[in-house]
Amino acid sequence: MSDLEQRLADLEDQGLRRRMRLVSGPQGSRVVLDGRPVLLLCSNNYLGLAEHQRVREAAADAAMRYGAGAGASRLVSGTMSIHRRLEQRLASFKGTEAAVLFGSGYLANTGVVSALATASGPDTVVYSDALNHASIVDGCRLARAQTVVYDHCDTDHLRWCLEQHTGRPGIIVTDSVFSMDGDVAPLADIVALAREFGVRLVVDEAHGTGCCGPEGRGAIADAGVDPAAVDVIVGTLGKALGSYGAFAACSATMADYLTNTARQLIFSTAPPPPSVAAALAALDLVIEDPSYATRLQANANTLRDALAREGFEVAGASTQIIPLIVGDAALAMRICELAIEGGVFAQAIRPPTVPEGTSRLRLAVMASHTKAELREAAAVLARAAMQAGFRPASGLPVAA
Ligand code: PMP
Repeated sequence: MSDLEQRLADLEDQGLRRRMRLVSGPQGSRVVLDGRPVLLLCSNNYLGLAEHQRVREAAADAAMRYGAGAGASRLVSGTMSIHRRLEQRLASFKGTEAAVLFGSGYLANTGVVSALATASGPDTVVYSDALNHASIVDGCRLARAQTVVYDHCDTDHLRWCLEQHTGRPGIIVTDSVFSMDGDVAPLADIVALAREFGVRLVVDEAHGTGCCGPEGRGAIADAGVDPAAVDVIVGTLGKALGSYGAFAACSATMADYLTNTARQLIFSTAPPPPSVAAALAALDLVIEDPSYATRLQANANTLRDALAREGFEVAGASTQIIPLIVGDAALAMRICELAIEGGVFAQAIRPPTVPEGTSRLRLAVMASHTKAELREAAAVLARAAMQAGFRPASGLPVAA
């Protein structure tokens, strides 16, 4: 057995081996999964815009007008007008002076965190929430700065950490809506701490953009925080905006700095024109029709209530991400499989994506789900949990 095969066998034994499932057609609220029709309850296409007619047409039109690919980094072969247009629209959507596109949210977070740490020199301390997304964790690793991980959403602990390093340059970095827990960072308090200690602040709005706040402008807007108080707002185009790519919304100087120093932007091909056009069309829809975000919220509430009625302990805040914490990885997988048999696809999320012992089904509501579908999904999940030997209300496996 090769080392690779051994490692895969180890993952299998631990219930942690991943396999991709085959989906036919677009990522709508209902899909055909490995040949079986199911309700899709784990996509980040929260507003259903990936398959919206106007978004598809915009992508198709851009493919004909600008071609399929961007050809090179924008610093090498020049920027296309459509990339500029999207940056301007994103800046005005987020209330910042400027925005810079990146190839993906993963690239944006690694790029922004490492570039900012370089600006303030080797003495920089990066303060990172314990449940930040992997791309932020990897950005901290790339930053070659000291990283201090503070307890999840705990501003007392963050203050204590900041006090340990007063006088040193610093960057606080946090998700706004946490990807696996669906709770929201205490943004107003974090902004106040960044100001008090004179450190920079980066907020990842991957799951806030399009989903919460006035006109879906995100969790920063929802918290009433001045966008200028956040040094960089990262957002992805791949979730609520139904496309692919990402952005950093910030001051004009910061945008210029990132364009000159973020290696993930400099040394990587610009996002493809069809994706850029799709994001532009999606942004128009989100701004034109604020009911996208309100329907998403209403659907999240419907599913939370239905799950609670089925006896589940529903963690998290009121966002579209609802974690059903199971604990054991194999048990989470078993529930996931049984739910698929019942017609609901809710992916099991296991370490290293979530901490050891907190495997879960991560439910992601879409604005395009119907209330009846969500109530039925809660019942299917409850049946799957019981069949797998997991008693939802207590969180304890049923005794044999
Ligand atoms: N940040 C967060 C909080 C995320 O959840 C994700 C994707 N799951 C990313 C960044 C990465 O974004 P992208 O998928 O565009 O690379």
